[in-house]
Amino acid sequence: MSAPGTLYVVATPIGNLGDLSPRAREVLAAADCVAAEDTRHSGRLLAHFGIERPLVSLHEHNEAGRVRELLARLQAGQSVALVSDAGTPLIADPGYRLVAAVRAAGIRVVPLPGPCAAIAALAVAGLPTDRFCFEGFLPPRPSARRERLRALSAETRTLVFYEAPHRLREFLDDCAAGFGATRRAFVARELTKLHESTYDGTLGELATRAALEADLLRGEAVVVIEGAPEAADTGEATGRGPGTEVLLAALLDELPASRAVDLVVKLTGARRNAVYRRALELRGTQGAEPDEPG
Ligand code: SAM
Repeated sequence: MSAPGTLYVVATPIGNLGDLSPRAREVLAAADCVAAEDTRHSGRLLAHFGIERPLVSLHEHNEAGRVRELLARLQAGQSVALVSDAGTPLIADPGYRLVAAVRAAGIRVVPLPGPCAAIAALAVAGLPTDRFCFEGFLPPRPSARRERLRALSAETRTLVFYEAPHRLREFLDDCAAGFGATRRAFVARELTKLHESTYDGTLGELATRAALEADLLRGEAVVVIEGAPEAADTGEATGRGPGTEVLLAALLDELPASRAVDLVVKLTGARRNAVYRRALELRGTQGAEPDEPG
């Protein structure tokens, strides 16, 4: 029996073809087959670089079935290169099942690092990068999306999201409502492409710009959002510790702001003024009642 081959996980450009690394080209040119999300799309990429290799489709809907076939090729000593339509495979793209199965079979998996929209956006956002969390795409259904945003409202790490252009405006509105209109955020669209542009400001400002500037909603986009304040910085003093934040967000969905604030103060012992201020932020100010805290 021949020695097993290698699975190469190869990052490809997210726009600018100059970002395909020389090493990625070599590996693609030498692979026995290239497993691609969309074989026509990746076929064009390979053709651009004068590479002609057999392509096998591996996408969300056939991955489970394809794993067996690709595993057999690897066990027979072939080398397989995995690519997705753009960027790094497995990052909001197929490949997880394949990589898990190949590793479980004791076969070598080698990364060919390169473009990734999330990392590219994070690198230029000007928001903290020491700790961040990648949330990828939120659920498309508004209720499920808002639920997820509520669960994330106390997350202190910088948050990175992918969003489709036709949902970006609604997404920014929901983020402003869920995280508070004053949180800092950043939108990176069409990275590495001709119309690359970036926008920064508060979530409230970006939501307003999305309503006024059609360009902001064109093409592919990554949204990077500042994390919630650390509990230690605020905690009891401001009423913005994670428990308080989640509780307040949940109660604001069900009750008038003043009633939600009363309950949070009673349950957490946080300061009323700070909780009230936060309630106004979460409501994006317009939604909150104008009464002053006592
Ligand atoms: N695997 C890819 C990566 O490494 O970034 C991501 C694939 S995911 C299916 C596609 C999403 O990535 C898009 O909806 C968009 O949110 C983001 N994206 C991809 N290319 C982009 C670009 N050039 N500029 C901004 N965002 C991009």
